[in-house]
Amino acid sequence: MNDFARIRSELVKCSRCGKCLSVCPTYQLTTDERRVARGRVALAEAVLDAELDYTAKLKESIQSCLKCLRCSWACPSGVEVQTVITLLRRRMPRKYGLSLWNKFVFRYVLPRRKLTDILVRLASLVQFLIPGKKGMTRHLPLLFKGKRRIPHLPGRTALGRFGTEKKADANAVYLFTGCLMNYAYPEMIGSAIRSLKKLGYEVVVPRDQLCCGTPVLSLGDVEQAKRLAELNLSAFPGDAPIIVPCASCAKTLKDEYPALLGEKGERFARRVSGFSEFVSPRLDSRVIPLAAAALYHDPCHLRYGRNIAEQPRDVLRKAAHYVPSDGEDLCCGMGGLFSVHHYGMSSRIAGRKVAALRKAKGDLLVTECPGCILQLRDQLAQRGIDLPVRHIAEVLEEAVCRSEEPKRF
Ligand code: SF4
Ligand code: SF4
Repeated sequence: MNDFARIRSELVKCSRCGKCLSVCPTYQLTTDERRVARGRVALAEAVLDAELDYTAKLKESIQSCLKCLRCSWACPSGVEVQTVITLLRRRMPRKYGLSLWNKFVFRYVLPRRKLTDILVRLASLVQFLIPGKKGMTRHLPLLFKGKRRIPHLPGRTALGRFGTEKKADANAVYLFTGCLMNYAYPEMIGSAIRSLKKLGYEVVVPRDQLCCGTPVLSLGDVEQAKRLAELNLSAFPGDAPIIVPCASCAKTLKDEYPALLGEKGERFARRVSGFSEFVSPRLDSRVIPLAAAALYHDPCHLRYGRNIAEQPRDVLRKAAHYVPSDGEDLCCGMGGLFSVHHYGMSSRIAGRKVAALRKAKGDLLVTECPGCILQLRDQLAQRGIDLPVRHIAEVLEEAVCRSEEPKRF
C-alpha cells in the first residue's frame, strides 16, 4: 500500500465524533480545530482530494502534533493519527520538508556511533561556557529565549561505561540505552543494570546499538528509520529479552519495527519490554521499600502508547511509598522534537502538569522516560519548585541495594 492509500485507510475511519478534543494537549491549549486529531485528519483529507495545497499553515498544523497518542487511545473508531502525521510529514514538499541540518544529523551522524560520540564529547567540553546550576546547563541564550535548562553532559557515556561486544546467553538480558540516557543520563542506565543484576540477571549492553529511530520517524524520514532499525536488529543477536528503560524507545521498538521491517521486526519486537513491565512481576523480598513518598508521572508513550499504567505503580508500591496524586497522566509537553520546535507551547502544556504537582504531597517525582525527566526538571526549576525527578530504575536500585555501598554516580 502506498503512503496515500495508507493515509486514506485511516481517514475513512474518522466519524468526526470529536472524542479526541477532550484529550489532545494542543487543542486544550489553543481550542484551534487545526490542532486536534479531527482537524488534522480533515486537513489530510483535503490534501489527498487536492482541495488544499501544502502551505506553511498546514505544515504548522502537522508539525505541532506531539504524537502523544492520546487521541488514538481515546478514538472509538481506531484512527491511527500518528500514522497519518508521520506519512504527511514524509510527503511534505521539499521546501517544507527536512532541513539540511536534520538530514545531516539523521542520515549521516545517527547511524555512526563513533561520530555521534565525538560530537557529543566536543559539546561536553565546551558546555562550561554556558552558565548552569544544580547539574543543569542553561541552554544557549539564542535558543528557547535563554530559558531552557538541559542536562549537564557527563564525560563518559553509558555505552562507554557499560557497552560490550558480548552476546547475551541463557538467563541474560540485553539493555537498550536510547540516546538521551546514553549521552545525558548514564547514571540511570547504571541503576537499571544494577537493579536487574540484583534480581538475578546478567545484563549485556551491546556497544553497537544505535538510536531507535523515534526522532527520525517523528519528522517523517521513514527510509532512515528503516536503516537504523536494520542496524539495531544486528546489534541484538539471539533470542534474549531486550529491556528498554525509555518509554519512547520501547514504543518505537515494539510498535514501529514490525511496520518497518515486517516479520523480522515482529520477532525483534516480541523480545522487547519496558523496564517496569519486565521487573514488576519479578520483584520479591529483596526489595526493601524506601520511606520516601513517591509521586508518579505517566509518560504518554507508556500509558497511551502501550497501555502500561499498573506495572510502574506496582514497582513504586514495592520500592517506595507510592502516593497517588491528581493529574498523574497529564502530558508534560515534551513530545521529543515538538518541544524543540514549539518550546512556548510545550511550556504552556507543562504548566497544567506543574500546577497539579504543586498541590501533590511527595518527596520526589518518579517516571520512566528520560524525555519527561528532562522536561519536568526544566519546567519545575523554571517555576521555582524544588521537587527531585527520578527514573524508576534509580528508585528500584536504592530499594534492592540498600545494604550495599551507596551509588557510584
Ligand atoms: S476521536 Fe477518532 S473518530 Fe472521533 S473525531 Fe477524533 S479521530 Fe475522528
Ligand atoms: S497525538 Fe496528541 S497532540 Fe497529536 S493530535 Fe493526537 S492528542 Fe493531539
